Amino acid sequence: MSGVIRRLDETVVNRIAAGEVIQRPANAVKELIENCLDAKSTSIQVTVKDGGLKLLQIQDNGTGIRREDMEIVCERFTTSKLQTFDDLSAIATYGFRGEALASISHVAHVTITTKTADAKCAYRGSYSDGKVKGPLKPCAGNQGTQILVEDLFYNVSTRRKALKNPSDEHSRIVEVISRYAIHNSGKSFCVKKHGETVADVRTLPNASVVDNIRVVFGNAVSRELIEVACEDQKLAYKMKGYISNANYSVKKCILILFINHRLVESSALKKAIEATYTAYLPKNTHPFLYLSLEIAPQNVDVNVHPTKHEVHFLHEDSVIESVQKHVESKLLGTNSSRTYFTQTLLPGLSVSGGTEVKSSSATADSTERVYAHQMVRTDCRAQKLDAFLRPKEKPSADPEPAGPSGREAANKTARPDDVEMDEADDVDLLQALDQQEAEEESSVGANDVQRKRPRKEQQQQQEEEEEEEDLTAAATPKRRVIKLNSIKELRAEITENTHKGLQEMLQSHSFVGCVNPQWTLIQHHTKLYLLNTTKLSQELFYQILTYDFGNFGVLRLSTPAPLYDLAMLALDCDESGWTEDDGPKEGLAQFIVDFLKKKAEMLEDYFSVEIDQEGNLRGLPLLLDKYAPIMEGLPMFILRLATEVNWDNEKECFRDLSKECSMFYSIRKQYILEAEPGEEQDGEANSWRWKTEHIIFKAFRTLFSPPKNFSEDGTVLQIANLPDLYKVFERC
Ligand code: ADP
Ligand code: MG
Repeated sequence: MSGVIRRLDETVVNRIAAGEVIQRPANAVKELIENCLDAKSTSIQVTVKDGGLKLLQIQDNGTGIRREDMEIVCERFTTSKLQTFDDLSAIATYGFRGEALASISHVAHVTITTKTADAKCAYRGSYSDGKVKGPLKPCAGNQGTQILVEDLFYNVSTRRKALKNPSDEHSRIVEVISRYAIHNSGKSFCVKKHGETVADVRTLPNASVVDNIRVVFGNAVSRELIEVACEDQKLAYKMKGYISNANYSVKKCILILFINHRLVESSALKKAIEATYTAYLPKNTHPFLYLSLEIAPQNVDVNVHPTKHEVHFLHEDSVIESVQKHVESKLLGTNSSRTYFTQTLLPGLSVSGGTEVKSSSATADSTERVYAHQMVRTDCRAQKLDAFLRPKEKPSADPEPAGPSGREAANKTARPDDVEMDEADDVDLLQALDQQEAEEESSVGANDVQRKRPRKEQQQQQEEEEEEEDLTAAATPKRRVIKLNSIKELRAEITENTHKGLQEMLQSHSFVGCVNPQWTLIQHHTKLYLLNTTKLSQELFYQILTYDFGNFGVLRLSTPAPLYDLAMLALDCDESGWTEDDGPKEGLAQFIVDFLKKKAEMLEDYFSVEIDQEGNLRGLPLLLDKYAPIMEGLPMFILRLATEVNWDNEKECFRDLSKECSMFYSIRKQYILEAEPGEEQDGEANSWRWKTEHIIFKAFRTLFSPPKNFSEDGTVLQIANLPDLYKVFERC
């Protein structure tokens, strides 16, 4: 057997070539999805078994394949999309090589069922090695195409062995589909495991890009997005997309890049953008970006190999620089603004950065002109360094592990030991779904989209579909539009009662410092103000509860807290006002448990207050990112839910519930009273300072409509005016 050169068998050649085109199930999925989109489909459903190695099924509602083309669709270089070489440069569709289906049919069993609009019935054909096997079978079917790929790589054992982790392949598939779903908002995508009812990702036909980003990547990122769009005629490119702002970061950069509607990678662009963000994000954290570039087709190297996602184009450096500049300008402009609400809580109000205070009818003290020479050099957008530092953890020296019985200090609101509450645990407890998601995403990379939607969200999504009378499914699968009149009225009350002057002041204030949990100093223009943090934060949470009604994330308690024990703790303290005449505490506590259990469904649905069958509290609403209320207030909150809320009238009920909840969440004296005197420098004491400055007062900049009475009732006090101080100094 000396070296005789023999021509390889043709099927072997084809198989090798196919293995080059389709290296793993996700490549096949990408090609098949692009075919669906080429065929103008608006709904694409993918079913996956064993990471696509056992089965991949793609169903679309596109144009279908004509019967006469069915015989040859799987042959190499057959395409309905390109006829001459010149067409290559003007190509608008994804596929052009006629290679995908052929390749797949060389390494898998392919079955195509398809119907065009004018055909009387659908036809089904099976394919292997590029050829149709036997005659086409007429069958029933809707317009569109279903491509079934079974036993991928059945005849390429090396490839099969290389892909031994089906769950990894599955997540790659979900990732590809999610990205195409984001890019193709307006079309619905669904991907699920074979035999499962719940989809890994599902987008709705009327959803926006942001909705789809929310579905795939979670709330934490979707509410921190800035829209970008630019174009340059000279460079012959257009760009649009969404990028995360300075409030958001992940451990690994997520750049979803489409060039001419094809999912690609460009390490040069990624590097440039990452460099831009370093000035805005904490060290070693990264942004999220979805960018769609359209570049004159003749400038893009279209002949990229299907598995080579890295793309190059003409004038690459200049285009990248231009994109980079645009991103930078957007980041600068929105550095400090948060976009919590999809509806505007503060309609039409911009932060005025000029030298003149805008006056408005309701303005209390800003009617006079402020001249430049009176201005103090402060910039409300300036971030202080400690914004990037998480508050220090409290040393875990939590005193007496307090069971409800072993509690002696009756005048002290008690801490049940099963509710975790110090700052270290806050983080734990802050397993607010979306934050957790964000972190998971960043740490697992390609696996990131494989996670199932958290139960709550799935459920919410289902409920949206069911609950038609009072709630309509919003354009987004997760943000519900609340159509309850009671809520609309409560929102209107907030808007009508807004003090525009105070609002403007809070939007553009400079934070000076906390006096104590109850009082905070801020500066606005040349004046120094003392603000009642407790009242303001309570009102803030009330407004969030009203505006985000029915749409909260959940703060899961690390250990469920028995309502009975909480009620007993509350009854044990003076504040409850319990007297012998009220009857035994045990009976009352049991009554409270039974009562709240009856309301559990509503509390969970609208307020994310989760109570389980056993009467344990499991979750509380997430009202602001990274913010958890202090748990000392929990027993009283539970007691008051049962006793202080008017449960008979819908509007009053929602108002009272929101009031009680906001009281519990507010920053108040209790924070400091609970801390030991020497402890003030660290632990919880430190954490209320941090929360006040970086969460509460930050929220005031964008989320808040201060009520009119706050200017008169001592909630906001002016304590100094700079020009007056100058006069004092001049005399010295
Ligand atoms: P290309 O996309 O490069 O043309 P493919 O091998 O991917 O090559 O597809 C071959 C042809 O099969 C396409 O040109 C198209 O006519 C037809 N086809 C494939 N998938 C679909 C689909 N989902 N709907 C309609 N036609 C399809
Ligand atoms: Mg194709």
